[in-house]
Amino acid sequence: MKEEHSKEALHVINKVPSIYILGSPVHTLTLQESVQHISKLLERGGLHQIITANPEILYSARKDEDLQKLIAGASLVTADGIGVVWAARQQGEKLRERVTGIDLMAELLTVAGSKNWSCYFLGAAPGVAEKAGQKIKELHPGLSIAGTRHGYFKKEEEQIIIEEILEKKPQLLFVGLGAPRQEKWINNLFKTVTEKQARNLQQAGHIAMGVGGSFDVFAGTVKRAPQWTQKMHIEWLYRLLSQPTRIKRQVRLPLFALEVLRQKRSN
Ligand code: UDP
Repeated sequence: MKEEHSKEALHVINKVPSIYILGSPVHTLTLQESVQHISKLLERGGLHQIITANPEILYSARKDEDLQKLIAGASLVTADGIGVVWAARQQGEKLRERVTGIDLMAELLTVAGSKNWSCYFLGAAPGVAEKAGQKIKELHPGLSIAGTRHGYFKKEEEQIIIEEILEKKPQLLFVGLGAPRQEKWINNLFKTVTEKQARNLQQAGHIAMGVGGSFDVFAGTVKRAPQWTQKMHIEWLYRLLSQPTRIKRQVRLPLFALEVLRQKRSN
């Protein structure tokens, strides 16, 4: 797989400036700019996938051509995590801030509340997306909830879920199945819709993004790392200590850093 990065690779995708990290594009927008960009996409219409790219996703994409292709084809790829901001700096490039999935989701929900956008929440354990929906609706009464569904479904149930989403035509679809499964699921949804269904969704405008464990946080079943850990950039350590099973995933963080340094040396 061809890996492009460095300053020369600075280019524009959908007129959004981006840089390459380990061969995948990451847009250089701030949180507020990302929200404005997504709002414009929705007004323009069409189907759009948003990816909040954390080090684990970018590291996996190096060896996963499908994942790398879908990142390259996304309407917006944000720098999810301080590790991605650090990687850019190693390449002599600047990402002004990290844009995490949960922060982006929270901001989009606020806009959805003021613009009466409809949202669909798919993912997490039974009851969690529903509870998150209730709490979000209390916070943003103007937002409409098109539907919620838990993320522990069988392969043969997928078609029913897809049909329900297509019928409800939510403007925002949040999918919390864990990365990169959720990104692939959204991509597959976009690939499998028929032309007529796509036209229906496109007219209303449709944004879909993977949000990992965010429903658990909105529902209150999992606490987000305290702000001081976020400010000190040790949110990953807090999450590791509170959920030790994450160790399997977090070993990819040093591997990501080593790969960034290896590529820096070879340039
Ligand atoms: N999940 C799901 N279906 C599955 C496996 C996981 O809906 O088959 C949910 C899980 O309940 C959790 C989310 O996916 O809400 C993954 O959260 P995680 O913290 O791993 O994601 P991250 O935020 O780190 O990407």
